Amino acid sequence: MKVQVAVVGAGPVGLTAALALKAQGITPVIFEADAEDKLRPGSRALFIHNQPLQELDQMAPGMRQTLIDQGLVWDARRYFYRGRQFFVKEYDERKRQIFGTSVPQAVTEAALRDACRAAGIETYWSAPVAGVHVDDHGVEIAFEGRDSVMADFVVGADGSKSVVRKTAGIKLIGNTSDSRWVIIDLDELDEEPARKELTFHYAHPGVGQRNVLMIPFKGGWRLDIEARNDEELRRLSTPEEIRAWLPSVMDARYCDKIAWVSTYRFYQLVAEHFTDTHRRVLLVGEAAHLFPPFGGRGLNSGIIDAASAAHAIAQSIASPGLEQRKILVDAFSRDRRAAADFNMESAAIGVDLMAPATILGRLKREWLALRSRWSIGAARALSMGPNGRAGGRPGQSGIY
Ligand SMILES: Cc1cc2nc3c(=O)[nH]c(=O)nc-3n(C[C@H](O)[C@H](O)[C@H](O)COP(=O)(O)OP(=O)(O)OC[C@H]3O[C@@H](n4cnc5c(N)ncnc54)[C@H](O)[C@@H]3O)c2cc1C
Repeated sequence: MKVQVAVVGAGPVGLTAALALKAQGITPVIFEADAEDKLRPGSRALFIHNQPLQELDQMAPGMRQTLIDQGLVWDARRYFYRGRQFFVKEYDERKRQIFGTSVPQAVTEAALRDACRAAGIETYWSAPVAGVHVDDHGVEIAFEGRDSVMADFVVGADGSKSVVRKTAGIKLIGNTSDSRWVIIDLDELDEEPARKELTFHYAHPGVGQRNVLMIPFKGGWRLDIEARNDEELRRLSTPEEIRAWLPSVMDARYCDKIAWVSTYRFYQLVAEHFTDTHRRVLLVGEAAHLFPPFGGRGLNSGIIDAASAAHAIAQSIASPGLEQRKILVDAFSRDRRAAADFNMESAAIGVDLMAPATILGRLKREWLALRSRWSIGAARALSMGPNGRAGGRPGQSGIY
């Protein structure tokens, strides 16, 4: 089998890459390791910003509204330090229009799958890629238990353990932070609260001074609590323990509404290059970068990676030749690597505030908390935990 472009991985970023290619006039083929009916539960990447929503809409007209209809914009963001509120930001109608939407990843993936089907993009399910072999003539994609496929280009969207990245010889660099979180999705109560607000607590006094984040979405809540070590991570995530501590942070009736529990560790990793030496493999999403989840820079920037990779591939196909391909694909790789570095730094600001690693960091946070009593600037700076710095690279129009 020979294809022009193969996308490896039918996660949200791979599906987006396929739609972006289709919008550029190329019909790719997707290879996905999992079965089509495998459940992929959980809120996971819960927030899609306006810019990625607009990108999606260009690839699949109507997608922005589809996700907004199934999403929610919170009424306010509210921040507490050791139980004392220090910052609140209301979301009025104008902010709502340009903000984006809080929508569980499962909903986003379902909408993207529908759009791929409608666009006639073929997905081979239960087709785990074993590796890629790249030379100047193309990419040989090897599978477990089926014949190889040849492709002119491969988009590696196979997530954090990407075999495409590894077998194309691209290194991942960075580190793992000590920050570990339990993540719980809660179904909404029969009578919904009048207001739905994102709430972040530094050192919540009701749960042993642990950091706690609560994010509403349509039909439920995402609750994150930070654990101090691996033993705590296991303990805090058992249903009995959750029912014991949850009433200290939310209405006790949510104890009967636990829908999904998972754990998460913070990584700060980025691929050295987003392409291989032959410029035929382009990495996107978590195959290329892993950030702390708060701030939503993972999936949001993955959507922009996908659009950018599709553009580089379409241009390379339109003007063949190694030199031209190098220029176009290298531009993609450099730009998305720079964006990933910026995203990682931005997220790190939030991590440093939530879990300062040094005495100086802890003192700085206490000082900010003290000043936040009278200084709105200090309150704003402290509100950069958990999400990190907002906004985008200087000189760039987009935020990812
Ligand atoms: C518990 C949890 C909580 C999270 N919370 C947040 C959050 O709050 N905010 C946020 O922004 N992000 C969050 N994330 C991260 C978010 O889920 C990712 O950013 C997003 O899924 C990345 O999408 P992706 O398509 O790049 O990778 P993935 O979603 O990992 O998709 C990769 C796809 O490739 C497939 N695949 C893998 N190997 C192969 C192979 N060899 N051959 C073929 N297919 C293969 C996989 O089956 C999968 O379908 C969370 C993740 C988890 C697990």
